[in-house]
Amino acid sequence: MRAVYYDAFQKLPTIESLKDPSPSPTGAVVKVEATGLCRSDWHGWMGHDPDIVLPHLPGHELAGTIAAVGREVKNWKVGDRVTVPFVSGCGHCPECSTGHHHICDNQVQPGFTCWGSFAEFVALEYADLNLVRLPETMAFETAAGLGCRFVTSFSAVIDKGRCSPGEWVAVHGCGGVGLSAIMIASAMGAQVIAVDLTDEKLAFAKTMGAVATVNGSKVKVVDAIREITGGGAHLSIDALGHSATAMNSVRCLRKRGRHVQVGLMLAEHARAAMPMDKIIAHEIEIKGSHGMQAHRYPAMLQMIERGLLQPQKLVGKHISLAEAPVALAAMDKFEGTGITIIKV
Ligand SMILES: [Zn+2]
Ligand SMILES: [Zn+2]
Repeated sequence: MRAVYYDAFQKLPTIESLKDPSPSPTGAVVKVEATGLCRSDWHGWMGHDPDIVLPHLPGHELAGTIAAVGREVKNWKVGDRVTVPFVSGCGHCPECSTGHHHICDNQVQPGFTCWGSFAEFVALEYADLNLVRLPETMAFETAAGLGCRFVTSFSAVIDKGRCSPGEWVAVHGCGGVGLSAIMIASAMGAQVIAVDLTDEKLAFAKTMGAVATVNGSKVKVVDAIREITGGGAHLSIDALGHSATAMNSVRCLRKRGRHVQVGLMLAEHARAAMPMDKIIAHEIEIKGSHGMQAHRYPAMLQMIERGLLQPQKLVGKHISLAEAPVALAAMDKFEGTGITIIKV
């Protein structure tokens, strides 16, 4: 198979011809049709993720058709159209036993703990538990954008953030996660304020449903949100993952507000400062969000099928596998709007 390959961090990946994977007894091999390019792939390539063992194939947001199944797999057959959350649960640890497969003690993350989906084929583990059947009407390019940023945002806005109609929701950062969160919170009936540093990204955020925007390069973010909301947001999401945006997200909340951290906090941001005095005095709630279980997908897929959520609008551009190495290396520049999808 052809695949995007690297044997050193921060060195431009190459396209290599490698042996096709074969399924484990409980796993499946998927022929990748489309796969999303995510900032987590860039973090991995930079060497920020201790799970990655070189040499490596990145890629964790994927959709395709099943090419082979292990002998113990019961629910799937060759040809089924599927996607998968970026964390696959084992099914037998305490977290999986209580339904929290996305924070499994033995989690498998294609593109991090094992080889990923920037390839013609990818091996997935615990197929019966983790694969998700795609609606017939959903394109692979749309489904590929769901498995990481969209599901993490869905879980952050709805499951962790408990977003309610009429609430003010601030979303800091208008990349893939932020745009997804804006769309989902808007669909829930919230009033969403998009925050970013460029007018181009904020204009795109408005097309996703934001009712107000704040350009952090021009005004003080916390003051602007307090003014728009008349005292602070009910729910705020750091969709970027930076010490400054995390701080703004907590500080822009009203009393008893909820902050959800979705953007990864790595390298120098891993121990970001927090205003603990205010968190206590205002009874602020802080939660992390790390993906979503396969069993929560049907709720999201139903909203997509009804047209309440339109993740296809988030796709900014399509590129080929051959274009992926350069695009991966450029992920830190935050250029363009929307999600980049690699058509394999
Ligand atoms: Zn588990
Ligand atoms: Zn991702």
